[in-house]
Amino acid sequence: MPIRPENKARYPADWKLRSRFVRFVRARNRCEWCGVENGQPHPTTGSKVVLTTAHVFDHRPEAASLLNLAALCQKCHNSHDAKMRHDGRKQRAAMDRAKGQGTLFPPESERELVQEGLL
Ligand SMILES: [Zn+2]
Repeated sequence: MPIRPENKARYPADWKLRSRFVRFVRARNRCEWCGVENGQPHPTTGSKVVLTTAHVFDHRPEAASLLNLAALCQKCHNSHDAKMRHDGRKQRAAMDRAKGQGTLFPPESERELVQEGLL
């Protein structure tokens, strides 16, 4: 995932070094979750694999311990972040309801959560 400009200052000064170490030394140029090789076509998606460095347990940019980072292909990184985005939407919707600011016509993402029985 590209680093958002507003979050850039939150990453440690040696982020590039940490990221390269995780992807190319520790992971040996492969996704640490599914094993696909960087630069090769992904066997499921067919897209060229571009390894990224993901925050696994603590998603804050400052949480850059090597134990919190993983070299992931786009497919693994997106599925990992999807859960985080889902949890974030659910949490924000719950906070809005608690403040009495629920909307009569919730955005589509919240409607999906209602249909799934999560809200
Ligand atoms: Zn993967």
